Amino acid sequence: MMSSLLLRNASLVLPDGVLDQGWLLVEDGRITGVAAATGQPEPLISPGTAQRDLGGRHVLPGFVDMHVHGGGGAAFSAGDAEQALVAARFHLGHGTTSIMASTVTGSLAELEHHIGELSGLVQDGILAGIHLEGPFISKARCGAHDPGLLRVPDPADISRLLRAGDGTVRMITIAPELEHGLDAVRLLTESGVIAAVGHTDATYAQTREAIELGAPVGTHVFNAMRPVHHREPGPVTALLEQEQVLCEVVNDGLHVHPSVVSLMFAAAGAHRIALITDAMVAAGVGDGEYRLGSLTVQVRDGEARLTDGDSLAGSTLTMDNALRNAVRLAGVPLADAAVSASLTPARALGIADRVGSLETGKRADLVVLDEDLRVVSVMQKGDWVDTPSPE
Ligand SMILES: [Zn+2]
Repeated sequence: MMSSLLLRNASLVLPDGVLDQGWLLVEDGRITGVAAATGQPEPLISPGTAQRDLGGRHVLPGFVDMHVHGGGGAAFSAGDAEQALVAARFHLGHGTTSIMASTVTGSLAELEHHIGELSGLVQDGILAGIHLEGPFISKARCGAHDPGLLRVPDPADISRLLRAGDGTVRMITIAPELEHGLDAVRLLTESGVIAAVGHTDATYAQTREAIELGAPVGTHVFNAMRPVHHREPGPVTALLEQEQVLCEVVNDGLHVHPSVVSLMFAAAGAHRIALITDAMVAAGVGDGEYRLGSLTVQVRDGEARLTDGDSLAGSTLTMDNALRNAVRLAGVPLADAAVSASLTPARALGIADRVGSLETGKRADLVVLDEDLRVVSVMQKGDWVDTPSPE
């Protein structure tokens, strides 16, 4: 029998604005109807259709996190499918219904093993893909990546890792100024894999070259890249100004100052800014000492830093928080913040035909938020999932 549910009295967060007193019909895991105007009469429903009155709460498309290393005490880079499931499950409770797993720098053999463990989960539809962050990055901008394991982006090595993934490696972060850097961008682009510019000391001109060769994404823009200088605008400026580039931002209020986040939105718009968590194992667990790849990280008051040195080492952010910070700290309109949390990253990953907005025909991946933008309920493929009790 077909399962169907009518969500009534909802404030629908659509790409171009918020629609009050709306409704949304879910049938067999898909959205099959959405109110097109405020107060539009509800559709005629069959007697078996369940109904839920949302009392004016917000309904958003499920979040798409394209850059996350772990959470809930588990890491994607542990090389263990069980741990990956725990991390995905943790973020699902915070509204992330599509998640791409990010690894950290390791040896090629280690990475091959990690890719092997994660690729099955991609094929099963639990993960939206694998992102390799490192080892093809700049020593000068390596952040929380083991500098001893970095290497130049040799096309033969990249091909080896792509083969290990059998189509599941969707993105690789590259410092384009390294030897073979531009060859790598070309190879990835030809292979249909996202060449993301990040952890880079590239100049503005070098970044422009990478973009012209097809690099469509900036990895956590501003973090771990040469900063903006008015005579050497660097990668940040090149990434923000080029229409075809999507810029990731770790929106925890710490990695990038909220006023700079609003500057990014003003410069590039919500359709080119993707909110990411860059979360690591400690997200949702608490302060203490953790491993990140081969390095040790100390988390204090939710701030993750390398014990050796002072570099930020990922975040303890969740996507609901990233969205809330965009609205509350950076003054981004809710509809725009929702685009940056769902539709924009979905487009980057090539899954926007299935997820990323409240549209008829798309998967019923939904987040219900209260007036304080806190998660009330999460739906994935038409099923409600367990959410953590509000803090
Ligand atoms: Zn990083």
